[in-house]
Amino acid sequence: MNLPRTLGELRKSRFSEDLLRKRRVKDEMRENLVARLRQTGPLFPGIVGYEDSVIPQIVNAILSRHNFILLGLRGQAKSRILRALTTLLDPQTPYIEGCEIHDNPFAPICRRCNEEVARRGDSTPIAYLTPDQRYVEKLATPDVTIADLIGDIDPIKAARGGHELSSEFTVHYGLLPRANRGIFAINELPDLAGKIQVGLFNIMQEGDVQIKGYPIRLPLDVALVFSANPEDYTARGKIITPLKDRIGSEIRTHYPATVEEGITITSQEAWTQRDGYNLQIPKYVSEVIERIAFVAREDKRIDKRSGISQRLPITCMENVISNAERRAIRNGEELVVPRVGDIYSAMPAMTGKLELEYEGEMRGADNVCRELIRTAIAKTYDEYFTGVNMQQIVTWFDLGGEIKMGDTATTPEIFESLQNIQGLTEKLDRLAVKAKDCPQVQVSAAEFILEGLHAHKRIGRNEERVFRAGEKPAARAEKSFEREEPPMRPRRPYN
Ligand SMILES: [Zn+2]
Repeated sequence: MNLPRTLGELRKSRFSEDLLRKRRVKDEMRENLVARLRQTGPLFPGIVGYEDSVIPQIVNAILSRHNFILLGLRGQAKSRILRALTTLLDPQTPYIEGCEIHDNPFAPICRRCNEEVARRGDSTPIAYLTPDQRYVEKLATPDVTIADLIGDIDPIKAARGGHELSSEFTVHYGLLPRANRGIFAINELPDLAGKIQVGLFNIMQEGDVQIKGYPIRLPLDVALVFSANPEDYTARGKIITPLKDRIGSEIRTHYPATVEEGITITSQEAWTQRDGYNLQIPKYVSEVIERIAFVAREDKRIDKRSGISQRLPITCMENVISNAERRAIRNGEELVVPRVGDIYSAMPAMTGKLELEYEGEMRGADNVCRELIRTAIAKTYDEYFTGVNMQQIVTWFDLGGEIKMGDTATTPEIFESLQNIQGLTEKLDRLAVKAKDCPQVQVSAAEFILEGLHAHKRIGRNEERVFRAGEKPAARAEKSFEREEPPMRPRRPYN
């Protein structure tokens, strides 16, 4: 691309002084957003489930030229939304070449650039930034310092240059000045120490700040965006009032409203396209995985303040596929079809994402997770089989029938033994599985039915994944739901 390389060329180009001098980042985002709104199509591709809730509020905040904050629990795509804001920046932005804070060629703020322009005039060299280069992100932690965020006085630089301490020549710029003319995102804002919040506020309000007691003038041009957990943000004393006052809009994010929305996000984010195998993920497997997150978000044993990240179903899905892949490799099969039983093998991808309350801690993460999976299976089963008479299948087990659905048996072996269960094959219709479908598909569907009956305690299953008769009602009544699972043996982390 033939972009102007000097200030003189720039002046005569489409990046004219008229256009650039007064155009601040928030004006630029606003203009580009207005153009985008006139077109059809999604504003932020890949952000699912926020079309009618979060996105209109973000649009309003940008149209209002606000700094804004996204308030939401973890795994609600907050960082992703903030990163997507770069799509509202110009493809190329000229700045004075060599400037650490990317000075506007027509309105430099640093002393170096002011001197450079005075000395070289129209031959001052110009360089360009892409949108990604104009996005700076920082995770706030209590140990972030003014030096990290705003800058530090470098006494060596000062001594060597013979400058006064407070001149900009002696400042080593922090992250915020380096985000000048771009977007600066601070995640988990309440974790920033009060003193740093004051510094941030001063920059936003006055364009100057004190570093080690020296006043430094920095009239930066930055769009500031933040994210925070809502409870931390509203907790008294976590955010200094003047800073809160300067954040134009507070926008609340949320988890997917429906299982379907969750599935869309998970299938978009999870790593499913793997080489060498033909993968078919049955819909009910996706539904059970997604429902685990929904069930967990309602569970009183799980900490409501931290929430259940959307990353739980995503990593769960990846692990479920891997378990099915492992089975297929071991058995020399080409077609990989995950089963509901694979979800129990994916517990390592889930337990770390459950912040437990005291009651949950007492119960143990593995047990809580196993119960969540079981409830999700029961609910998903009900979506397909409510009102369907399964007595024939249950009777087969009550009469002493047993079937093992382990990982070591090949699909044809299991498929064969499934044929013995009277009444089972015809029920696969409800899952849109036909007799002509591959054995892997039929086995997975049949296993879902058996897992569903087990989740409803109509048939039993042991640690070796042998399905058999359930406990008799009298014996069952004595036991609570929680006690029903056998204790887990470490050598077999399978349910
Ligand atoms: Zn400069």
